[in-house]
Amino acid sequence: MTLRIEAIPGGPFETNVYLVADLESGEALVIDAAQDTAETVRAAAAERGWTVGRIVITHSHWDHIADAVAMKAALGVPLAGPKGAAEPLANPGSFFGGLDFEIPPVAPDSWLGEGDGVVLGGHRFAVLHLPGHEPYHIALHEPEAEVLLSGDVLFPNGHGRTDLPGSDQAAMNRSLRRLRDLPAGTTVYPGHGAPTTIGAEAGWLAEVP
Ligand SMILES: [Zn+2]
Repeated sequence: MTLRIEAIPGGPFETNVYLVADLESGEALVIDAAQDTAETVRAAAAERGWTVGRIVITHSHWDHIADAVAMKAALGVPLAGPKGAAEPLANPGSFFGGLDFEIPPVAPDSWLGEGDGVVLGGHRFAVLHLPGHEPYHIALHEPEAEVLLSGDVLFPNGHGRTDLPGSDQAAMNRSLRRLRDLPAGTTVYPGHGAPTTIGAEAGWLAEVP
């Protein structure tokens, strides 16, 4: 069973949208919906012959959901949001404030929280609730393939910001302590920037109180 993961960055913060495909079945998932990426994602999936079944949103920050409505329309598939985030998803400008453009409210078709799973062909991603950067933040972990789609929790050389409304450093520390227990070979696909591994981040992760 082979997973293929492609990053399609978009928006002013180069927010990564991931197209995650099971190559045997041709089924795919889209993770997050950065600004002006919907058409690129649709075209990329079509070109590769992949059938997208679902969009999953990791957290409610505007740079991850700006194209959520457009992505749903382009792909014609349901969208799953992080459990508990109905209010911020319905008011996308509420974080960061002062956006000079409108982001359409996002009304997910379903919700994902701790203990839920997302099946993609022969793979099953476990949903982890990892608050700290944002209260409802989720990540997807596939233990067999050793893949973690970490959103804005874990990046190369550091963690997501905890100085934003709704952020919580103590919760972030708890989330990071869970992630440092994953196998060192686990590849991490973050919400911004290049992939890393749990092993490559082990040094600073070991210092998290
Ligand atoms: Zn964020």
